[in-house]
Amino acid sequence: MVVGVLALQGDFEAHCRVLSELGADCRLVRTPKDLEDLDGLVMPGGESTTMTLGIEREGLTEPLRDLAANGTPVLATCAGLIMLDRDHLGVLDVKAERNAFGRQVNSFESDLELEGFGGALRAVFIRAPWVDETGDGVEVLAEVDGHPVAVRQGNIMAVAFHPELTGDPRVHAWLVERVRAAAEAREVA
Ligand code: GLN
Repeated sequence: MVVGVLALQGDFEAHCRVLSELGADCRLVRTPKDLEDLDGLVMPGGESTTMTLGIEREGLTEPLRDLAANGTPVLATCAGLIMLDRDHLGVLDVKAERNAFGRQVNSFESDLELEGFGGALRAVFIRAPWVDETGDGVEVLAEVDGHPVAVRQGNIMAVAFHPELTGDPRVHAWLVERVRAAAEAREVA
């Protein structure tokens, strides 16, 4: 199982470590070629303007869209969530509000009950976005102050926090499980 981590900018190394601990091979993604034959993908946090420019510069816009649209499981965190929204790659039917908590508090930690994840999850928010609007196919998994901070739409899960920083592998495990399930479905077909 090969899971890619977009590595143009941001904290991609930490994601690779968690994925490796879960038994996946991690591939750093910097060009469209790096996306070939990936079983899953992580869109990490970072800085969304810089990341957008990098994606455009490397010709990754269409290949990333195709990958998500083809059903490849994707986990997006923080700036990665912004990258997938209606105003950016447009594969997740949400509108993200950038630096949404910034007006109140820049960075904070919180215990979140994530729907379907069994028990509280420590979540680290760093100049995080929240989700402003969600389309019909989007399931909200957790909220902070009434704002969605974890959502799922089919093969895509996007969280506003940084699951790679807390040593709790459950969010990445969702991705790995999803990749396994997709592989099994292919075998049966
Ligand atoms: N504030 C950043 C942005 O809007 C996202 C922060 C993060 O990914 N930790 O790009």
